[in-house]
Amino acid sequence: SSRDSSPRSAAARDDRAHVFHSWSAQATLEPVVVVGARGSRFWDENGKTWLDFSSQLVNVNVGHQHPKLIDAIKEQADKLCTVAPYHANEATSEAARLIAEVAPGDLNKVFFTNGGAEAIENAIRMARHHTGRHKVLAAYRSYHGATAGAIALTGDPRRWGSEPSMPGVVRFWGPYLYRSAFHATTLEEERDRALSHLAEVLTMEGPHNVAAIVLETVVGGSGILVPPDGYLQGVRELCDRHGIVMIADEVMTGFGRCGEWFAVNRWNVTPDLITFAKGVNCGYVPLGGVIISERIAESFAHRPYPGGLTYSGHPLACATAVACINLYKDERIIQHARHLGDEVLGPALEELKQRHPSVGEVRGLGVFWAIELVRHPGTREPLVPYNASGPANAPMAALAGACKERGLWPLIFSNRVHVVPPLTISDQDAREGLAIIDEALAVADRYVSS
Ligand code: PLP
Repeated sequence: SSRDSSPRSAAARDDRAHVFHSWSAQATLEPVVVVGARGSRFWDENGKTWLDFSSQLVNVNVGHQHPKLIDAIKEQADKLCTVAPYHANEATSEAARLIAEVAPGDLNKVFFTNGGAEAIENAIRMARHHTGRHKVLAAYRSYHGATAGAIALTGDPRRWGSEPSMPGVVRFWGPYLYRSAFHATTLEEERDRALSHLAEVLTMEGPHNVAAIVLETVVGGSGILVPPDGYLQGVRELCDRHGIVMIADEVMTGFGRCGEWFAVNRWNVTPDLITFAKGVNCGYVPLGGVIISERIAESFAHRPYPGGLTYSGHPLACATAVACINLYKDERIIQHARHLGDEVLGPALEELKQRHPSVGEVRGLGVFWAIELVRHPGTREPLVPYNASGPANAPMAALAGACKERGLWPLIFSNRVHVVPPLTISDQDAREGLAIIDEALAVADRYVSS
């Protein structure tokens, strides 16, 4: 039959026939069929191996197929696979305790979800019921997930296809000195002007109408934007002044990615709610959630919280989180992440910038870095236009191709390469990956105008 004459595997054929993929025009897809993975590498059915500089979608913080996580899943599967969220069970209880122990301040209660977007939905619901207000402030250049509320809060082009969306979202600009919305030239100026702008937006909206300000502690998918020192404290003060719930979205930054348990720790800021997912158990089983301050939890002490999920606190996912959190501690993974940022990735990326005219800026911390590419270092014109696709995106597509050919799987957003391997990557493998990016950047340099 024609099926048998196809050179493709059953997995590839069935995929094209029946799997509907995220964010994609379906007709032109040809996904790699992944058959195995270990540590910082994964491979396909033809035996080609890639060094994973994407950690998939920035979630496999401890690398692929960690034996301790696999054992935890197997043990829990034998004990108890699933149970309704109105019961208690060992795995969920322990995961919640461990998360509360590493969370800042009095964030002591955990509402579990299946991923990041549901965490955001529930954080917003909590903030609205806690304050009795409806507006939510969210940043341009942000990603919060693809469910109705989370995509409405998202401040990048992924939102456009879902508009008009949830009412009550008000947009503000966060700090991003390289492309300052405030014509700032120093970090201090950028911080101060971003905070004045936020205060002004609140005045115009009526702060008594605002339930929450939601922001990524370090903006992830929309650019790896590290806030200037003092910015998050400033946001905290504005929230305190007006009784607004501060929601730190740490879905990407939490659990070691930034060299801290949570990125807010770096600035000693305690939000009222933290959303998490990804690194909590590295996605071996889907899991996310909201970590809740005592004050907000108290709001629901004597009235029911109006939200829930069949799989909230799923035992398999939570047992994996327990193993994963213990692993971060036992193998000093977060310390290693900080070392990688300070001593390997940061200095090497700075060197790349010196050598390649297409590199406009490198920025990040821990194992969370971006290389931002430009047509001209002076004008800072992006290498490809905002939200480019098709021929307009050719330079970035060529760069991605050059990386993949050389055995590196990159994470590319817009005009940036995000450098986000597992936190457990060895110095040597990290340097190998950077050497591949160095070579591949020759492709981008060709588009630079003099
Ligand atoms: N929030 C942030 C900061 C994210 O980076 C993401 C996903 O990348 C999400 C929320 C959505 O998470 P999920 O895809 O698990 O729904």
